[in-house]
Amino acid sequence: MPANNPPAHTMRLCPTCDGFPVVAVTTSTRRRPDGTLPTLAATCPDCRGTGHAPARPARVLVAR
Ligand SMILES: [Zn+2]
Repeated sequence: MPANNPPAHTMRLCPTCDGFPVVAVTTSTRRRPDGTLPTLAATCPDCRGTGHAPARPARVLVAR
């Protein structure tokens, strides 16, 4: 593991994409000549592809 990775407990998964910020979206059922499907990469707008929640003041939720 690279030394510049912050500890896991300091990183929060992006709630919008749940840690999967970039997904391939098929745009057609027609395959390309090489047999692959044409896809577009859709990037999560909230975390901008990082997969982690943007830095923002933490809200303490009290569910009582
Ligand atoms: Zn996201």
